[in-house]
Order: sequence, then C-alpha cells, then structure tokens
Amino acid sequence: MRIVLLGPPGAGKGTQAKAISKEIDVPHISTGDILRNEIKNGTELGKKAANFVESGKLVPDETIIEIIKSRIRSGELDRGFLMDGFPRNLKQAKMFSEMMEELNIKLDRVINIVVDENEVIRRLGNRRICSVCKSIFSIGDDGNNMKRCPKCGGLLLKRKDDSEDVIRHRLKVYESETKPLIDYYTDRGILVNVDGSGKEEEITGRILENT
Ligand code: ADP
Ligand code: ZN
Repeated sequence: MRIVLLGPPGAGKGTQAKAISKEIDVPHISTGDILRNEIKNGTELGKKAANFVESGKLVPDETIIEIIKSRIRSGELDRGFLMDGFPRNLKQAKMFSEMMEELNIKLDRVINIVVDENEVIRRLGNRRICSVCKSIFSIGDDGNNMKRCPKCGGLLLKRKDDSEDVIRHRLKVYESETKPLIDYYTDRGILVNVDGSGKEEEITGRILENT
C-alpha cells in the first residue's frame, strides 16, 4: 500500500499515521519527525532546517526531496509507505509523481483528513509530545493537565512551533501551499475525504475502511 495523508496541521496526521502504519504494516514517513530529529542531533541538515521549522515556514523543496529520495534508495519503502507531511506543495507533489513514475510504482490512496479550523487551533494549542517515546497527547481534554507521559513517564513538551503566532502562520502556509494538493489528487482519482472529528479510534477506523 502506498498512501499519502493530507490535512491541515493539527488534523491528527501523526497520531493516525502511527496507528495505521502498525495496522497495515508499512513504514510511516513523517518529514516533520525526520526534520525534528535532525535538528535535535545537530546535523548539517538539521542546521539548515531549524529556522524554517521553528518559524512554521516550509523547508526548501530540494532538502525535502533529498530526504525522500534517500529513503527510496535505501529500499525502506519497497513494501509501501504512509507519507505524513509530504508532499506539502505542488512542486513536491509533481516531483514525487515523477519519482514514482521512474520506479514504475503508483500511489494507491490520498487520505484527506477534514477538520475545521477552530478545532485545529484548539488541538495544536493543547498538543504535547513525549520527550522520550514521542507519543502525542492532548492536554485539557476531560480537564487533565498531565505533565508526564502515561505510556513511559517521559516529560511532556510543547513543540516550539505550537505557539500561537507560529500556529497562525502554519495555517496560512497550509491554505496557500498545501490545500491545492486536494485538487491535484482529486483530479487523479485517488483522493478520499475522511472526517477527522471524534475519537482517535473512530478516525482510524474510517481511514482503514478506505485503504
Ligand atoms: P504539522 O503538520 O503539525 O504542521 P509537521 O511535523 O508535519 O507538522 O511539520 C513541521 C514543520 O516541518 C513544518 O512547519 C515545516 O517547517 C517542516 N516540514 C515538514 N514537512 C515538510 C515538507 N514536506 N516540506 C517542507 N517543510 C516541511
Ligand atoms: Zn512516552
């Protein structure tokens, strides 16, 4: 299965991608996670990407394409993949299509997770990431205000780009750069819209029905 998850920041792509990739046993490729990891490790790539990621701007296409190409070269994606956060604009989508054509493979599905903007803003403000196991949680739901990861006890942190002004900027970038991909993949007949509201498991179920 070769799947792309689409949707605004805060739609739950990361959470869903983790669940789905386990269920259908294909690697989950999150360009955001890859970049954050490179930044944390202080690599050359991380140094190049840090300012973009922390201010909510898109990292240059060449850098992203290089990341994806190296994953393809390594053979890691031969069994299929679940892309989360890539492609992010038309240029990346076109280059991705060309890459796949050369390899004689096709995207099976693009899952567009639909969530309204107010909900997205609320979710991003409440989002916390476990500093150890990277699990994603939402504080504030049912009044909880947890500081530690319920799975591993690690400290929960807010992502730097989950501050109010950066969230606003990321949503603008989504509207102008990423949203056009909905038409791009609809025209190719592989896009399905999935309602991204409700419980995590319910959304996972809806996605699985379409894969
Ligand atoms: P979210 O979907 O919540 O915004 P991501 O983890 O997908 O979070 O992305 C975080 C940041 O990483 C983006 O704001 C951007 O700076 C960078 N990034 C991730 N994927 C891409 C991509 N495909 N192209 C350019 N920049 C990217
Ligand atoms: Zn944890």
